[in-house]
Amino acid sequence: MSKGYEKILFKFKSAWDTIKENDRELVYDFSKNYKTFLDNGKTERECVKEIVKLAEKNGFINIEDFLIGREPIKEGKKIFVNYKGKAAALLVVGKDLIEKGMNIVAAHIDSPRLDLKPFPLYEEEGLALFKTHYYGGIKKYQWTSLPLAFHGVVINKQGEKIEIVIGEHEDDPVFYITDLLPHLAKEQHEKKLGEGITGEGLNVLIGSIPYDMEEKEDRVKCHIMNLLNEKYGFEEDDFIAAEIEVVPAVKAKDVGFDRSMIGAYGQDDRVCAFAALRAILEVENPKRTAVGLFVDKEEVGSVGNTGMYSKFFENMVAELISLQSDNYNDLMLRRAMAETKVLSADVGAAFDPNYPDVLDKRNAAFAGKGVIIVKYTGTRGKSSTNDANAEFLNEIRNLFNANEIQWQIGELGKVDQGGGGTIAYILANYGAEVVDCGVPVLSMHSPLEIVSKIDIYMAYKAYKAFMKN
Ligand code: MN
Ligand code: MN
Repeated sequence: MSKGYEKILFKFKSAWDTIKENDRELVYDFSKNYKTFLDNGKTERECVKEIVKLAEKNGFINIEDFLIGREPIKEGKKIFVNYKGKAAALLVVGKDLIEKGMNIVAAHIDSPRLDLKPFPLYEEEGLALFKTHYYGGIKKYQWTSLPLAFHGVVINKQGEKIEIVIGEHEDDPVFYITDLLPHLAKEQHEKKLGEGITGEGLNVLIGSIPYDMEEKEDRVKCHIMNLLNEKYGFEEDDFIAAEIEVVPAVKAKDVGFDRSMIGAYGQDDRVCAFAALRAILEVENPKRTAVGLFVDKEEVGSVGNTGMYSKFFENMVAELISLQSDNYNDLMLRRAMAETKVLSADVGAAFDPNYPDVLDKRNAAFAGKGVIIVKYTGTRGKSSTNDANAEFLNEIRNLFNANEIQWQIGELGKVDQGGGGTIAYILANYGAEVVDCGVPVLSMHSPLEIVSKIDIYMAYKAYKAFMKN
């Protein structure tokens, strides 16, 4: 064997082995706060509330305050943007002008779920149910026989926003989607897994006592609507002006005898969102403007006015540049976007011993081996991928190494196994340097996803090192 082969070859290590015994407490403490964030933020609206609450507590000022008085923004200033209560940005103004580019960590705060239909309430043979339409990529069978909660808003005719969270408190009722008993499931068993439960079959059971009334039809439905009216003060047609999401009524839990992992709903992508949030809250006086970006609608293609395709972020940058310079022009905005560097903070698939065949083990990410750098995603020959530039990958690798951040690589499945995408390519369209960088997840998109506590911590350290610049 030639001399020095250990230096030439490379092995990915368990991130637990790379931290000092004492630092385990830091990792566990960080996870405690993360679990609270998950329990408080089960929808994009709730996440924005949590983000804004923490931003204000940490000295961030609403951009509106600067815009009203046309107050110039100075270096070191901490600013937040709350966009329609469903997307948010936190930034710390750099020593360099924004025109020179920003360092952005961008995560999404929407997760796969069931949404109530616009006219959801009905009764069938003495049972009242809500009709749903699923949002994002779910395996439908996973949503039956699971305690469910409702989270969302209803706007009544007077324009009041009624906030609803039911199914989370100890003495709250929960809700269920029933499954067929095995005794009578002969035909269901013969169907393909993806067809055993249908989308139109995902109706949530919500009550069964008939209302005391003269009319013989829909007495249970009427009873439920009465209860909702008494408690929340809205009527059936107000469902049309509502956004109510059905999510698992389960709190975030430690997983494993060693408590090394967390099992919870919506960790794609709130795990990266929380790591990015904690990181930006701790950034002081960066060289380049640091941004934590939290967007909606990633799970349905980043469309809509709160998704990454929306101009809200670009408009915000334009406003900021105009506050920084008296003679704003379009070129300054274009330069700012093109000179920007981005960590697209989204989760990746972790190697699963139960399903070893879908990933190429030599290029897969593993729970517990640190934050993942994903050069490309996409399907069928990298279609629709951002495919990060080698030069930028080197910069990020060196940054992580210099800051003792345990990282690994990842790929979304074997070649031609399937695939997917993130928001990476959208910011890359402006000319920004972008790479996907996030936390490996087991059971991704299931009602209870699993991540390793050490990976969350490494993601936080990685985002902080990048934003601090
Ligand atoms: Mn995601
Ligand atoms: Mn996803």
